[in-house]
Amino acid sequence: MPPLVDPTPSGVLFESDTQTPDLGLEKDVSVLKNATPRKYEYVWFNIFWFLFLHIGSLYGIYLALTSAKWQTNVFAFAIHLMCAIGIGAGSHRLWTHRSYKARTPLRTVLMIWQTMGFQDCIFEWARDHRTHHKYADTDADPHNAERGLFYSHMGWLCVKKLPEVVEGGKRIDLTDLYEDPVVMFQKKHYMKMMPVLCFLLPTVIPVYYWNETWLNAFLIPTILRYTIGINVVWSVNSFAHVFGYRPYDKSLNPRENIAVWMICVEGFHNFHHTFPWDYRATEHPLLNMLTPTIMFIDAMAKIGQAYDLKMVTPDIIKQRSQRTGDGTHHLWGWDDPEFTEKLKARYSTIDHPELKDA
Ligand SMILES: [Zn+2]
Ligand SMILES: [Zn+2]
Repeated sequence: MPPLVDPTPSGVLFESDTQTPDLGLEKDVSVLKNATPRKYEYVWFNIFWFLFLHIGSLYGIYLALTSAKWQTNVFAFAIHLMCAIGIGAGSHRLWTHRSYKARTPLRTVLMIWQTMGFQDCIFEWARDHRTHHKYADTDADPHNAERGLFYSHMGWLCVKKLPEVVEGGKRIDLTDLYEDPVVMFQKKHYMKMMPVLCFLLPTVIPVYYWNETWLNAFLIPTILRYTIGINVVWSVNSFAHVFGYRPYDKSLNPRENIAVWMICVEGFHNFHHTFPWDYRATEHPLLNMLTPTIMFIDAMAKIGQAYDLKMVTPDIIKQRSQRTGDGTHHLWGWDDPEFTEKLKARYSTIDHPELKDA
């Protein structure tokens, strides 16, 4: 049987995939974008689960504002942050993109926080996300933005995986994940760990430690926190693939969207899809400094738990944005006038001789 998926990748994953001196692909990837019409098979369990989560969350917001103890709201926010770092710095930047390396204690903490966020185990998360980057905006992309905003947000989880996505996923090299004992431990015990970490403990702790009601404890730090967490990640797949500028590569759907970044702490998505192995959210140092995931990785690097942080040099970024960008690089990168020499010197971790001479 011929392959369902065009084996030509529509995106890069690692430096080794690049074909041009400015780290892109030789082929114009915009010609590969597609979404062939098809009949979806609905997954009713997920549809009812998402309905329950969103209705429960609306009531959770009401309770958080009216009857919850302040400790419960602070606790919910703290868990949300841990989950966001577990997913953002863990399953995304570390395990999917290998944009830095981490020692076992850090990998263990990230694995626990990632489990608390319940978005599939690291192994599956990373496989699907690698497929998303490698076959971005094609039928093999799990949340292909060419199928519309709702599909790329949560619609893709309400229907059965398309055969092209399954086939695309099988083409991804996952050797590094098989070799990581932390990833394999989580994969093996996921269905035992996840219900305890994501649902049971966040509900029991507020009742046990500060006498919160069971309803508040269940609906605020558990259901509302979890629903916000999944919507944050979904918004990067949907809104940041549709609205915004494309200063680095205009042939890609992913865009720079500051509103998505403000809510989701991830949203400079044109930069990310152009240079996915760069551990930073953006080349703008000040915005990196304000991004919790990046702050966390930087802090871990200071204490030696994270190392070999990868960054693309400003020269390559400039070359690339001049060749393939939409001309808005001055708003998003080093040319931003708000970005003074003093700020550059203070926040940049890159040795950039061109700027020192300026
Ligand atoms: Zn994306
Ligand atoms: Zn990514």
